[in-house]
Amino acid sequence: DLDDKVNENTYTITKEISSTINSTLAKLKAVDQSREDFVANVSHELKTPITSMRVLADSIMSMEEAPIELYKEFMNDISGEVDRESKIIDDLLALVRLDKMAVRLNIEQTDINLLIKQTLKRLKPIAALRRIDIILETAREVKAEVDETKLSLALNNLVENAIKYNKEGGWVRVTLDADHKFFYIKVIDSGVGIDEEFRESIFERFYRIDKARSRETGGTGLGLSITKGIIMRHKGIIKVSDGEGEGTVFTVRIPLNYIK
Ligand code: ADP
Repeated sequence: DLDDKVNENTYTITKEISSTINSTLAKLKAVDQSREDFVANVSHELKTPITSMRVLADSIMSMEEAPIELYKEFMNDISGEVDRESKIIDDLLALVRLDKMAVRLNIEQTDINLLIKQTLKRLKPIAALRRIDIILETAREVKAEVDETKLSLALNNLVENAIKYNKEGGWVRVTLDADHKFFYIKVIDSGVGIDEEFRESIFERFYRIDKARSRETGGTGLGLSITKGIIMRHKGIIKVSDGEGEGTVFTVRIPLNYIK
């Protein structure tokens, strides 16, 4: 009788252990797969500009007597590919640094109005190139515990996108508001908009809705995943919705007081 009880218990325990092991293995596999995908994506993205440079260099070298204008044109293209490669590397480094939980956020009481103003000021020249108006609307003074450099990068990515995926002569509106617990930043644009079906994917690494156009606009597909990473580390949330008429709204909500 006692033997039976022991057997039964052993059986239940063994079953539990084996199911735990199985689910752990499944989780590990998923982590491994996403890591593998990431490495594959990284290699691909890093190789693309190099391949272009190689093709450009080889073809100019294979010409017997190329006119100087053609040389200049090819060198200009190569220079563009170098810029692109640097941008990918910069974004990747930002992403990797963010992933390392060991890298502590540098949390300080920060004037959010000022942070937004300074970030927008840096983007004014890019906006001006496309005759895009940047409008800032702040409802109140907001002070919050954030990592100023990182939050500025997150906002920079959102506003840069709002400029890039906009039309000539369009506008970008940035609003700031707060209640007793959170502050809210909205980046609203008059641009091309984002279809419902893409709204989750755009936060994934390397995801671009229109690869050709994004390439033209110098995108790496990493901007939004960096932005989301930064906001999550502040225990905040980011969501995307329809703009006013056309365009897109990104809404960010972050606690005023940093939660460890
Ligand atoms: P990218 O470097 O391509 O801009 P992001 O991660 O910043 O990468 O954005 C991912 C994709 O989401 C972009 O390629 C673009 O297709 C889309 N997107 C991002 N922001 C906007 C926006 N404000 N309006 C329309 N599409 C956008």
